[in-house]
Amino acid sequence: QPVTSIGASERVIKERSAEIIAGGSVFYNPVQEFNRDLSISVLNVFARRFLKERAQSENVEFDDSTFVAGEKCENGLRILEALSATGLRSIRYAKEIAGVREIIANDLSKAAVASISENVRHNAVENLIVPSQSDAMTLMYLSTSNEKRFDVIDLDPYGCPNRFLDGALQSIANGGLLLVTATDMAVLAGNTPEACYAKYGCVPLRMKCCHEMALRILLHSIETHANRYGKYIEPLLSISADFYVRVFVRIHTGQAKCKYSMSKQSMIFQCTGCETFTLQPLGNVKVSTTDKGKSQTKFGIPTGPSVGTNCEHCGHKHHMGGPIWSNPIHDHGFVKELLQTIEERPLCELGTHRRLQGVLSVVQEELLDVPLYYVLDKLCCVLKLENVPVLKFRSALLHAGYRVSFSHASKNSIKTDAPTSVIWDILRCW
Ligand code: SAM
Repeated sequence: QPVTSIGASERVIKERSAEIIAGGSVFYNPVQEFNRDLSISVLNVFARRFLKERAQSENVEFDDSTFVAGEKCENGLRILEALSATGLRSIRYAKEIAGVREIIANDLSKAAVASISENVRHNAVENLIVPSQSDAMTLMYLSTSNEKRFDVIDLDPYGCPNRFLDGALQSIANGGLLLVTATDMAVLAGNTPEACYAKYGCVPLRMKCCHEMALRILLHSIETHANRYGKYIEPLLSISADFYVRVFVRIHTGQAKCKYSMSKQSMIFQCTGCETFTLQPLGNVKVSTTDKGKSQTKFGIPTGPSVGTNCEHCGHKHHMGGPIWSNPIHDHGFVKELLQTIEERPLCELGTHRRLQGVLSVVQEELLDVPLYYVLDKLCCVLKLENVPVLKFRSALLHAGYRVSFSHASKNSIKTDAPTSVIWDILRCW
C-alpha cells in the first residue's frame, strides 16, 4: 500500500481546498485523493437528495440555494468520519460539500486527534468540524438515539471494515449514507478463503472478475449486518480502484423488506476446467397479502449446477463460492446525476477530475442485471486462441442479439447477458 510515511518533523501537505500540517506518525496516503474526490462528489449529490426528501417528509419548504460549501447549514447533514487520521478528509468535506451542519472527525489515536485539532484551526473550519478522540465503535454505540444519529458515516479503516459495521448500522439515520472502504484485497480476491469467510461470511473464488467479486462480497456483508437490525441496503455506487474497494450505500429501515434479502444473494459455481460460472440465488422470495390482509411469504428454491455435477461445456466438476450480493451494485440514475455534477465543475477543483469522468462513464454503461464478467484473455487462453480483439468480440455478441458492456473494474472485461454456450460458440468459430 503506497503510504507517505511522515517523519518526525512537521510538513505541509496541500490537497485541493485543504492544507494539512502533518507530523509524527499520523497516517496520510496521497494515492487516496481519488477516493476523497469521489466521496466529495457523491456527498454533494446525496446532500441535495437526502435533505429534499427529509424536508418533504416534514412538510417544510426545501431551498438548496442556501447551501454553501464551507458554511454551516442548520438543517444540513451530520457527518461522522469515524477513522479520521489527519482530518484531511473531514476538512475537505467541510470546505467542498454544500449542505453540512456538522462533521465529527474521530480517531482513536491521541496523536491523530492532536493533528486533527491543529488542522481544523489551520483551515479555519471550527464552525463545522468537531474533533473527537474515541474508539469508533464506542462513539457509534453512544449515538443510536434519534437526535444523535448521523446522516452520513464514513468508514475508511486499515484493511477490513467489518468490525465497525454493527455500530455504524445502528447509529445511521433512516435513508442515511454509509461510505465504506476495504483495502484487504488479497482476502477479498480469494487468496485465503478461510479468512474471507471468517471476516465477510463469504467463500471467495479465485476468478478473473475478482475486483467486482470483492465489491459484491463487501455488499453482501453490509446487507447481512443491516438485516440483523431490520435494515437493508440500497447501493448507489460501488467502485474498485487501485488497491481498494469503496461502496456508497443508503441504509433503510424496514423489517418486511429484509425478507427479500435472500433473493439478492447468490452462490457461485465455477467450473474447474473452463472457468465458466453460474450464479444461483439463495432463494426466490415472494411476499403477498392474503384475503384476510395477512402478509404471506413464499420461498422458491432454485436449481442449477452443484459441486457434484459436471460442467455442460467441458465435463469438469465445479467449485462453489459465495454467497455474494447479486443485485445491482450501482444506481444508474444517481450515477448520471453525479457525472453531470462533475462535468459542470471546473477542471481545477478536483485533482482527479478526468479519472472520475472516465470511471463513472464506464460505470454508467455497465449492465446492472448481469453480475460479474469474463475476461477475454482468459477465455482465449482456455481455447488456446491467439488474442481476439475485444471490440470485434463485443460486436459479435451484439450481432447475435445480446447486450454487452465493460466493467469499470477490468479493462478487458466482457459483461453480457449471452448464455455461456453462445460465448464459447463464437470463440470456437474465430
Ligand atoms: N480516513 C483517513 C483519510 O482519508 O486520510 C485515513 C484513515 S486511516 C486508514 C485509519 C485510522 O483509523 C488511523 O488514523 C487509526 O489511528 C484509526 N483507528 C484505528 N482503529 C480505530 C478505532 N477503533 N477507532 C477509531 N479510530 C481508529
